[in-house]
Amino acid sequence: MPIINGKKMTPMSRIRNIGFIAHIDAGKTTTTERVLYYSGVTYKMGEVHEGSAVMDWMDQEQERGITITSAAITCQWKGHQVNIIDTPGHVDFTVEVERSLKVLDGAVIILCGVGGVEPQTEKVWNQSTRYELPAIFYINKMDRNEADYRQVLDDIKVKLGVETLLMQLPYHVDNEFKGVVDLLEEKTFFYNTDLLGVEFEVMDVPEELKEETTAARNRLIEKIAENDEQLMEMYLEKETDIPRADLKAALKRIVHGHRAFPVLMGSSFKNKGVQNLMDAVVEYLPPPDFRGTITAYRVKDNKPIERQISDDEKFMAFVFKTVFDRHATQQIYFRTYTGRLKIGDTVFNSRTDAKIRINKLFKIKSNKLEKIERITAGDIAVTLGIPDIGTGDTLCDLTEKLKLQKIQFPQPVMSSTIEPRLSSDHEKLNQVLDKLQLEDPTFVVKTDDETGQLIISGMGELHLEVIKERIRREFKVDAKLGRPRVAYRESVEKAATAEYRYDSEFNENKKHYGHVVVRVEPLPSCPRHEIDISVREKDIPQSYHQALAEGVRDSLSAGGLAGFPVIQVRVSIVGGSCEEEYASDFGYRISAFNAVQEACKTGGYTLLEPMMKIEILCPDDYIGEVINDLNAREGKVKSMLKRSKLNVVHGIVPLSRMFGYATAIRSLTQGRANYTMEFSAYEKMEKKEMQRTLKEELGLHTF
Ligand code: GDP
Repeated sequence: MPIINGKKMTPMSRIRNIGFIAHIDAGKTTTTERVLYYSGVTYKMGEVHEGSAVMDWMDQEQERGITITSAAITCQWKGHQVNIIDTPGHVDFTVEVERSLKVLDGAVIILCGVGGVEPQTEKVWNQSTRYELPAIFYINKMDRNEADYRQVLDDIKVKLGVETLLMQLPYHVDNEFKGVVDLLEEKTFFYNTDLLGVEFEVMDVPEELKEETTAARNRLIEKIAENDEQLMEMYLEKETDIPRADLKAALKRIVHGHRAFPVLMGSSFKNKGVQNLMDAVVEYLPPPDFRGTITAYRVKDNKPIERQISDDEKFMAFVFKTVFDRHATQQIYFRTYTGRLKIGDTVFNSRTDAKIRINKLFKIKSNKLEKIERITAGDIAVTLGIPDIGTGDTLCDLTEKLKLQKIQFPQPVMSSTIEPRLSSDHEKLNQVLDKLQLEDPTFVVKTDDETGQLIISGMGELHLEVIKERIRREFKVDAKLGRPRVAYRESVEKAATAEYRYDSEFNENKKHYGHVVVRVEPLPSCPRHEIDISVREKDIPQSYHQALAEGVRDSLSAGGLAGFPVIQVRVSIVGGSCEEEYASDFGYRISAFNAVQEACKTGGYTLLEPMMKIEILCPDDYIGEVINDLNAREGKVKSMLKRSKLNVVHGIVPLSRMFGYATAIRSLTQGRANYTMEFSAYEKMEKKEMQRTLKEELGLHTF
């Protein structure tokens, strides 16, 4: 092991950053728990149903049985340091999945031996293909009578369209699942003790399985050869008589190259096969530097820079998660890509321009933080108590300001009012919401100017519900949510010009002056707004431009129809005048604010609604019903293609028509279809639909 300043550090080749990806209930928590137990991190095995699993450390997750936030836990496995980054299984938490995928080097996809590939696994898989993530499949629950690994293999091929490499066969005694036959080793791993699976026997393949084992082994070698040129040459020469080490080396190349995927099996709950899975993790999933380089962007000009993933480069790390713990201390999870960091070092946050001194560094061992002195490239650690830091930030060396590409976060599209049940909790609720906003970039909080109500926005109904629950449990504030609403936006129908002059006394009898002429025009290509200050210096001096821009932004923050932000517009300051003696920032801000309001009103406000991209996977038998239903929801089908026996439908739908869609599609197709949906763009509504929405949905009658 390399020794840095007298400390033994794990070399990069022995670090693994992995995630367990699974459909809810497939056994992710149980498997993680077993891994931590066998690797010596935890000493008492807590069953999931007792609610003491280590990874699900947020109370709420324990109760709901779903894992919402991605924590990272470190354990040792056969001389390797394995960082397990928890990925959530629920589709509503796409962002959580996305940020953990970004920092993984490999994944274990846990499937239920009975249920096979379920919709959420398919969705996460689709997300992960973008990162070309090397992966291993683990078929869990093999102890169940209905478990059928052949069926699951077919399912992987059909639904995920990937090549599988079956590495094991199940080993049964008296119809009871007792372990696995390892095809490469040609050995049986027999888990027959009650010692929580800590001990197992390694035996020869029993007579009755020999034939099946040889056939499956030959098939495996053939497939390895088909996927690796180097091994193909050996195969042509020696057929299946190839040394094990060469087969393993080829398998490693195949997995790292994302060409095919090993499939293992076991029963985590019955303590069988988990050790074999972990052996495969360290053997076949790659170390942090397997891609060689990482691309970062120079802050000053956005120019891409390739950096070697190595300890010898300057420090650069990515913050993939920030979370407030029970004591309201912010934990900052980051992954280093290049260089090293030790306590006392100062780094740069390329988003905020702030210099940060690192005073604390930790690794997470189960739900405890363990102090460390330093961290090397490729590794994951936690620091605490750094102000203004958020998910997606890059921390880097002071001498070269770089940012790693940010994760693309979707826009929040659903909102709801929130208020404390006890009025004495108002202040506390405000503080808590501020914190949660820092943690989750898809969660936004604002105050309704007119009603003074707090409005929270997020990715869907469940997202907002979960936030409410967290507030109650972690921060002990009981809050209630209003009816969830679609987060509409406003824009203008036509271009219009307006003028406003402010010429009055304000506080302390000081006179203020401001005068502007603005033009507001629709600009559908612009996701927010553009401000163009092209007024002549002699009309409005440069020193007031800042105040003008502030006035415009304030004005656009709430439209005149229903108070939604005004977007897809260009605002140009085209004229004005100045009275030197009285001109003031205040005067120009007020003038710009009012002139923009006036111009928008003249141009005519329109309502924009969030349109969602939808992908539906549906078998032939139900495709007619699904398309008809989509049409009835004003959805537009953009394309339809076949993937094996499934139809893949891509379309665009208005979010407002998609409430309760999960239940609807389930009953239309007897649960055979599944779908994913994400924000696409804001689109102008038809006049009639807009009026209906304003009246019936938003309860407004004066427009
Ligand atoms: P998660 O939602 O993916 O984290 O799944 P959990 O680990 O919470 O497991 C869901 C349920 O399946 C729990 O009741 C577990 O006890 C059970 N379970 C997990 N692994 C196995 C297994 O290997 N065999 C059987 N029969 N049940 C299992």
